Amino acid sequence: MLPRIPVSGQATAWQKLLAQAIHNPDELLEMLDLPPHALPLGPLARRQFALRVPRGYVARMRKGDPHDPLLRQVFPLHDEETLLPGYVVDPVGDLAAMPVPGVLHKYHGRVLLVTTGACAIHCRYCFRRHFPYGDANPASQGWDAAVDYIASDTTIIEVILSGGDPLTLPDQRLAPLAQRLSDIPHLKRLRIHTRLPIVLPERVDEALLHWLRRSRLKPVMVIHANHANELDTAVASALSSLATAGVVLLNQSVLLRGVNDTPDALTALSERLFETGVTPYYLHLLDKVQGASHFDVEPGHARQLMQALRNRLPGYLVPRLVQERSGAPSKLPAF
Ligand SMILES: *Cc1c(COP(=O)(O)O)cnc(C)c1O
Ligand code: SF4
Repeated sequence: MLPRIPVSGQATAWQKLLAQAIHNPDELLEMLDLPPHALPLGPLARRQFALRVPRGYVARMRKGDPHDPLLRQVFPLHDEETLLPGYVVDPVGDLAAMPVPGVLHKYHGRVLLVTTGACAIHCRYCFRRHFPYGDANPASQGWDAAVDYIASDTTIIEVILSGGDPLTLPDQRLAPLAQRLSDIPHLKRLRIHTRLPIVLPERVDEALLHWLRRSRLKPVMVIHANHANELDTAVASALSSLATAGVVLLNQSVLLRGVNDTPDALTALSERLFETGVTPYYLHLLDKVQGASHFDVEPGHARQLMQALRNRLPGYLVPRLVQERSGAPSKLPAF
């Protein structure tokens, strides 16, 4: 189970909203005007990986529709309890690529910091849903081991803050970390992989923009949106503030059955991303993590979808379809 997010007396507006996230499946269905058993719940799946969804994200779901693409991303279905061969706990070989706790160094020139185990939303397809965050927490040593590792390898030019979701950490923790990283002369870029601007756009507040603007490192943010309906006006406004602060905005999605596995859904997502100032980057084939088999899209269907996107969209709005293989030197083109 991922750690709970602490809320102190001086909680910021976004921390208060985060603390009000929905955890109860019945409450979620009720908010959507759905009857209690509209979707088959998986009690074991829910115990292993709790339901968590911010209220603002729920507000973007269609009422009365058990097949809503946003609802499907967060509801712990009975299907998750089906164990299939080939679906494993660590599908991408993270644990073999960790030189110091919380630092994943798989690719040339960039390292990934598992900044926290906490997320604002629990995505049922998440490939790190079984990650042992307790053993891999770089913050437990005040980041020292991670920062020393990065400082000692001059081939690293980009640090990626990932998780969990790094933006669930308060700015009082992130800003000093960013400062320590910018003191390392061979670093050029600070990349943040986060779903917060999508699921809790209030996170993009003045405190965050302030340290992003000030950093010597060029900030890049890879937001994780899977469906056009996720990008409402509040999200658009948060993204616009980030762009104005000089942040390069990219999107990665996961190809998910029942969420975005149609030409119309993927075209609408790319178009909406462009309207909000975000360039489509990767479309990932699902990592075969235990509990996510009901999201899998057949490779043949994925190939047809990409063909349809190339026929409908300008090249710069077609994401790269990739997959991750343990031990490979980069993300791999899917075909
Ligand atoms: C995905 C990933 C990256 C980033 O890969 P890019 O192709 O640069 O986006 C870096 N490190 C690790 C460990 C990753 O899993
Ligand atoms: S926000 Fe990212 S890390 Fe967190 S549950 Fe969703 S996919 Fe996984």
